[in-house]
Amino acid sequence: MQTSTAESFYVEGEISLPEHFQRFYLLGCSKCNHLVRSKIKREIQCINCRLPRMLIPRCHFEVEITDKTGTITTTMSKGLGERILSMTAEQIYDITAVNNELFPVAHINQLLADKLFRIQLQMSSSRTPDKNAGSLVLLSYTEKLTMFLPEESTSASGADRIMEEEPILVTDAKATKKRKRESSTLPKLQSRLSNQ
Ligand SMILES: [Zn+2]
Repeated sequence: MQTSTAESFYVEGEISLPEHFQRFYLLGCSKCNHLVRSKIKREIQCINCRLPRMLIPRCHFEVEITDKTGTITTTMSKGLGERILSMTAEQIYDITAVNNELFPVAHINQLLADKLFRIQLQMSSSRTPDKNAGSLVLLSYTEKLTMFLPEESTSASGADRIMEEEPILVTDAKATKKRKRESSTLPKLQSRLSNQ
């Protein structure tokens, strides 16, 4: 069975950074973006351009998307990755490679906590040094506005009903986070992955 790798689809969920160690950048040729297994910026002989080129960092990392049914891992890169981290690839490189500091994963996760996103995903058709083809790539995301908190309510009875529902939503979100590590991972997506 041949399935199209270009097909994209949407999920809704929370985005967070996994706890395992990541470098958050890849280095590639400044001209053609050919990626190279190197941790430090230096001049290389690019096998693609066949010329000496400087390596420049590209933002690249894994994120976890969690919804009520489980968690999936996907990669974010370039402008999208820089946007969600509020950091450029050069800044990421400075923190982790120049200053040799740990990337502030916990801080980023705090900023992302309890936000709901609509996320466009696609099966990757190309390989990168740390990923095989067939993994999920995040194509776009938009933050969804949460439904609750009507600050000024003219209808008292309507507000009461909303207030009653709020704690349930909050507990639900926390329960989802606890279930994160279990393997019941977004069933639809998993069958897509195994079909590849
Ligand atoms: Zn090149």
